[in-house]
Amino acid sequence: MPIYEYQCKSCGRITSALILRSKDEKEVRCSQCQGDHLVRVLSRVFFRKTEAQRLDEFDTNAPRDDSFFNDDRNVGLWAKKRVKELGVDLGPGLDETIEKARTGKILNDY
Ligand SMILES: [Zn+2]
Repeated sequence: MPIYEYQCKSCGRITSALILRSKDEKEVRCSQCQGDHLVRVLSRVFFRKTEAQRLDEFDTNAPRDDSFFNDDRNVGLWAKKRVKELGVDLGPGLDETIEKARTGKILNDY
């Protein structure tokens, strides 16, 4: 999903907005002054990745910093990728366990 950035013509603030339909763009307001005179900044476009994309692009050998470990979506990503690379099928139990770990529910089981 594309996330665009807009600059406010009144105060200069950059506001990010998820745009799904072209009419969404007309409803974007400045996050600082609520102004509606915004111009799209073309420098950066973000796409929200799906779990499958994140898994495909994940390199188990790449070094990781603290921000990686602070993102709970990354919990279990290494395990999932290694299992996929090794061609092992651990069944739906692995996904279930990882989901519990991500949401903290795993602590309730012990
Ligand atoms: Zn503004």
